[in-house]
Amino acid sequence: MPTNRLNNPDSDYDLIIIGGGCSGLSLAAALCRLAVQPEHVPRTLIVEPRSRYTNDRSWCFWAQADHNNQGRQESRGSQAVDMAVDLIAKSWPSWEFSAESVSHRHASDEGWNYHYVPSIRFYEQIEELLAQNPKITLLKSTLVSEVKPVKGFLELVLECGSDVTESGRRVVTAGQIVDTRIPAQVDVGPAMLNQVFFGLEVRLESPHRFDDVARVMKDMRVDNEGFMFDYVLPLDRHTLLVEFTRFAAKSLPAESLRPDALESLRRVCGDASFQIVREECGVIPMGLSGFAVPADPRWIYTGLGAGAARPSTGYAFKRIQRWAEICAEGILKEGKAQGFPPDRPLLMWMDKVFLRTIASNPALAPQLFMSLASKVSADRLLRFLTDRPGMQDLLAVMLALPKLPLIRCAFAEIYAGIVTANRSHTWHEVL
Ligand SMILES: Cc1cc2nc3c(=O)[nH]c(=O)nc-3n(C[C@H](O)[C@H](O)[C@H](O)COP(=O)(O)OP(=O)(O)OC[C@H]3O[C@@H](n4cnc5c(N)ncnc54)[C@H](O)[C@@H]3O)c2cc1C
Repeated sequence: MPTNRLNNPDSDYDLIIIGGGCSGLSLAAALCRLAVQPEHVPRTLIVEPRSRYTNDRSWCFWAQADHNNQGRQESRGSQAVDMAVDLIAKSWPSWEFSAESVSHRHASDEGWNYHYVPSIRFYEQIEELLAQNPKITLLKSTLVSEVKPVKGFLELVLECGSDVTESGRRVVTAGQIVDTRIPAQVDVGPAMLNQVFFGLEVRLESPHRFDDVARVMKDMRVDNEGFMFDYVLPLDRHTLLVEFTRFAAKSLPAESLRPDALESLRRVCGDASFQIVREECGVIPMGLSGFAVPADPRWIYTGLGAGAARPSTGYAFKRIQRWAEICAEGILKEGKAQGFPPDRPLLMWMDKVFLRTIASNPALAPQLFMSLASKVSADRLLRFLTDRPGMQDLLAVMLALPKLPLIRCAFAEIYAGIVTANRSHTWHEVL
C-alpha cells in the first residue's frame, strides 16, 4: 500500500472535501479511479449542502475525437477526460460566432468537437461510483461553517446535516482539506469581468429552424451595460438551450437576466410554440486578481474561486477534470493534495490584456471576437481556447486582434503588474 502522509489515526478523516459540486466530486471520482485498490483511497468525507442533485447546469467543452473511438484520443491516457467522454449527451462538429448578421462557422480538421454534458448525468454517475467505495462518504444536507487549524489536524464545524447532534452542529477533524466553496465564501479579490448568464431549455412543438451547429457566441452586441450575446445549442430537433450572457464589470445576480433570456428566446424561436422545461444560471468570475490564502498549508482552495475558470472564456469543466486527476495522483502517491496549477505566464498575461481591453472598451468586444473567428483557423483558436497553444497559435491570435487598443491595455497590464508586485500578494497573483 502506498504511504499516505494524510493518514493520521487521530483525525476523523484523512481528507475532507468542502463542496460536492464539480470540483469536489471530480476529485473524489479521480481518487476512486486512480487507486490501485479501493482501500488505498484515504478516509474521505465530502460535505455538500444540497439534499439532492438536479440538472442545474450544462457543461460544454471542446475535445478532440478519435476517428475509431469517438471522443477518446484527446484524453491521451487521462482517465479524468475519459470519464467526461462517457457523460457526453451530444456533440457538435461545428460551431458559430456571429455579430451584426455576419457569421463565421468553424469546424476542426483535427477532429475537435464541441461536447455537452448534462450535470445530472455527472452527479448520478459519480454518486454511484462513490457508493461502491467504503472509504468515501458523501454527506448531503450539510454545510461547513467554520474551519480551524488545531494541533496535528484541521477542525471543521458542520451544520444542519442528518448526522448532527440536536444543536445542529458537529465538529469533525481532518488531516487535509480541499475547499471548493465559491468565491463569496472564500473571499476572492474582484474579477476583471463577470460572465453572468441565464439559460432556458425549451421543447418546441414543431422542429426548430437550426441546423446541427452550436452557436457559441450568437448576435454579439453592446448596450449601455456592456457586451452581451446569446448562446444557442440545438440539443435535438425539438429542443434548444438558449442562454443570454453578459460580460459585466460588476457582479450582477444571475436571476436578474431572466427577462433578457426570455427576450433572446422569443428572438430565437420566433412564432414557434414552445414550453420551458428547465432553467439554469450563474456568474463566472473572469480574471480574478487575488485570493485569500488558507490559514494552513494542509488546507487547499480550488474550484471557481481559485483559478478553475480560464480567465478569458470562463470555461472550467475540462480544466477541473485535469486538476482533479493531478490532485488525486498527488494524494495517492505522496499524500498531498494540491490546488489549481497556475496557467502559463504568457497565456495568463494575454488573457488579462484581452479582458482589460473588453472591460475598458466593451463596444470593441464584438469586433475582437469576430476578428479571432475570421482570421484564426479553427484548430489554432481551439488550441488557444483550451489552454494548449503553441507559440505560432499565440502569434496568430495576437496578429488577428486590433493593435492600438490592445497595445494600450498591454501597457496598462504591465503597470498593474508592477503595482501588484510592489504589494504583498499571494502566489496566485503572480503573472
Ligand atoms: C449554469 C452553469 C453553467 C456552466 N456551464 C459551463 C460550461 O458549459 N462549460 C464550462 O467549462 N464551465 C461551465 N460552468 C462553469 C463551471 O464549470 C461550473 O461552475 C462548475 O460547477 C464549477 O465547479 P466548482 O467545483 O468550482 O463549483 P460548484 O460546482 O458550484 O461546487 C461548489 C460546491 O460547494 C458547495 N458549498 C457551498 N458552500 C458550502 C459550504 N459552506 N459547505 C460545504 N459545501 C458548500 C456548493 O453547494 C457546491 O456544490 C458553468 C457554471 C454554471 C453555474
